[in-house]
Amino acid sequence: MVILSDQVLPSTLINNFSKEYYLKLPPSFYKEVRSYLGYKELKKIQKAYTFAFYSHDGQLRQDGSKYITHPVQVAQILLELRMDPDTICAALMHDVLEDCDVNKQNLTKLFGHDVAEIVDGVSKLGKLDITPKKENDANNLQKMMLAMSKDVRVILVKICDRLHNMRTIEHLPRSKQIKKSKETIELYGPLALRIGMQDIRAELEDLAFKCIHPLRASMLESAIKKSSGGRKKIVGKIRKELKRHLKSNSIDEVAVKGREKNIYSIYRKIKSKHKPFSEILDVYGFRILVDSIDDCYRSLGIIHNYFSPIENRFKDYIAIPKSNGYQALHTSLLALNAFPIEVQIQTRDMSEIASFGIAAHWQYKTKDKDVNSELRATRWLSGLIDLQKKSSDSSEFAQSIKTDLDSNEVFLFSPKGDVYALRKGSTPIDFAYEVHTDLGDSIIGCKVNRYDAPLNIELETGQTVEIITSKQNYELDPSWLNYVVTSKARSAIRANLRKQKISDARKAGKVMLESELKRGGKTLNEYRGGTLKKILNSIGVTSLNKLMTDLGLGKRTGSIVAERFYSGLQIREGIEEPKPVLIVDNKIESVRVRFAKCCLPVHGDEVVAHSDTERGMVVHHRRCKQVTPFISKDARYMPAIWGENKSDHAYKVRIDVNTKDTLGVLSELGSVFARAAINIGSVNTKTIDKKFAGFEIEIEVQDKQELRKVMQKVRAQKFTTSCKRKINEK
Ligand code: MN
Repeated sequence: MVILSDQVLPSTLINNFSKEYYLKLPPSFYKEVRSYLGYKELKKIQKAYTFAFYSHDGQLRQDGSKYITHPVQVAQILLELRMDPDTICAALMHDVLEDCDVNKQNLTKLFGHDVAEIVDGVSKLGKLDITPKKENDANNLQKMMLAMSKDVRVILVKICDRLHNMRTIEHLPRSKQIKKSKETIELYGPLALRIGMQDIRAELEDLAFKCIHPLRASMLESAIKKSSGGRKKIVGKIRKELKRHLKSNSIDEVAVKGREKNIYSIYRKIKSKHKPFSEILDVYGFRILVDSIDDCYRSLGIIHNYFSPIENRFKDYIAIPKSNGYQALHTSLLALNAFPIEVQIQTRDMSEIASFGIAAHWQYKTKDKDVNSELRATRWLSGLIDLQKKSSDSSEFAQSIKTDLDSNEVFLFSPKGDVYALRKGSTPIDFAYEVHTDLGDSIIGCKVNRYDAPLNIELETGQTVEIITSKQNYELDPSWLNYVVTSKARSAIRANLRKQKISDARKAGKVMLESELKRGGKTLNEYRGGTLKKILNSIGVTSLNKLMTDLGLGKRTGSIVAERFYSGLQIREGIEEPKPVLIVDNKIESVRVRFAKCCLPVHGDEVVAHSDTERGMVVHHRRCKQVTPFISKDARYMPAIWGENKSDHAYKVRIDVNTKDTLGVLSELGSVFARAAINIGSVNTKTIDKKFAGFEIEIEVQDKQELRKVMQKVRAQKFTTSCKRKINEK
């Protein structure tokens, strides 16, 4: 091993990083790595350690120790969770982009795509100012963090980073301590819970609580200690009783534990339920761990036989898991005729998932050493799908985590730092109306991240949006309807346009129509007599005045009406068939379209565009029963054709798959989609009879061709009996 000089720069390493430079890992860290990882993984981790070590060389922590101790501790927490080597490497280097002379490309070159993405994701989260200011900010901020992360491992590293910072918080100045602790309670604790990591959540909250309210915390702690003398005896006695009864009924591999509540949760209960401390502490908690689900239910039966249950307190989270994947049976009983007890019954697997959450799914098991991260993700997904199968309100957990990671929303800051969640595709106009109707009604311009920006710009997560307003000379612009995607903005603009006088509206509409036609090199005067009538007919209005009023009131979209006028001149003679509208990049004439939820059309389908007064342009499948009665009868239903789609928009689509109900068929089905790199949105399961099962699956595809391919693959599976696309047909 060559020891590099103190002055060595990361650039030396980047260009010439040979094995002889690798530093030895700290002993306890090394031991943890070797407890479940092989030699190859060890070398990669050593490389990351070396890289981080020299990158942080010369930097110190607040307490005076070398900076490298921090990332090492963070990685150590993740090692204890048995995470995959890439996560460990990323944890070791999670601060190198922040503080050092290193960029993302360097990391990709040296450590591969995944590690670089995780480090980059953690750094991006670090740059956000994520202190919740208002009550419902916290929820949005959590979602924002998930949306920015894309890979759930980013969140895992970030949470462990925060955990270590909280463990060493006493070295920070007091004002920072308070700020960090508040953030921890409002944001990181709930975030840890959201991905199911109960143990880490409890530690985060207790550390933060002790920091903010040291006096209350120490009072609570000593009160717990005081009462614990007598408690211990009672807990021990009940524990023995429970175990004896279970064993004598041949539940052999059973563990019974007394459960300690974390102090912050006791404090929260005292505050929210206004109950005295003694009453909350006098409930004794127990956890029974067994080997199978069958044993869970049997154990429940057995203890209900010996102790009398307290009515209405039984909950079956095995049949219906909580939204974060938590599973257990909960019951309350009166033990030894005197003591109310709460009992949770779980399998050991359930308990592991309850403590580690998503991390448990990501755990790196030596026995599947060769399993790559993609496959593990697939397993996680199929695990979730199996979980959903048991849950009656189908897909909460998978939905919340998956859609949060791949969000349909953008999260934006106001200049004051408040957070707003809006639909993807939103513009500053949507943002203004989301903040306040008055703000939207008086908008004249905007700044995005402090720079002037056009009002029709598509906003991105993490941006700060400032709305510039004026009360004077204000005129509402009906063309804004082209730029908004939220129904709030759309209806506010419409409501406002309706308030204008009809004559004003007609004037405004005339100006709009004329300027639209001008763009195509036409004037309104070119349209007369029969041609005009035909065009008005095809649009579905009785007179030109009515059309102009509608336009001014925002009931119709200028560019689309103009399109009718252009084609009107070309078809002067005879041909009745309306010219199809073109969908380019999911827009018709620069108006963003929606894809109807009833039939879920995908790129390449035969489609119809419906100009809907409330919702704008909605594209349906041509065979959808919502539109078939109106085609070529109502001018608001136009045939549409697909142009190029530059954004890699994923189209949602529903398919029905019937299978022989063999064990594990759902996870096999899941991996067919995963191998084709296709996202599953949700799954509904129905058992058809003893031999067959049916699944309604929502997936996301690029276009019809991809859909066709994946359906072929599904049909090729030996368990598949049928696979059909679901369009809302008659
Ligand atoms: Mn850090």
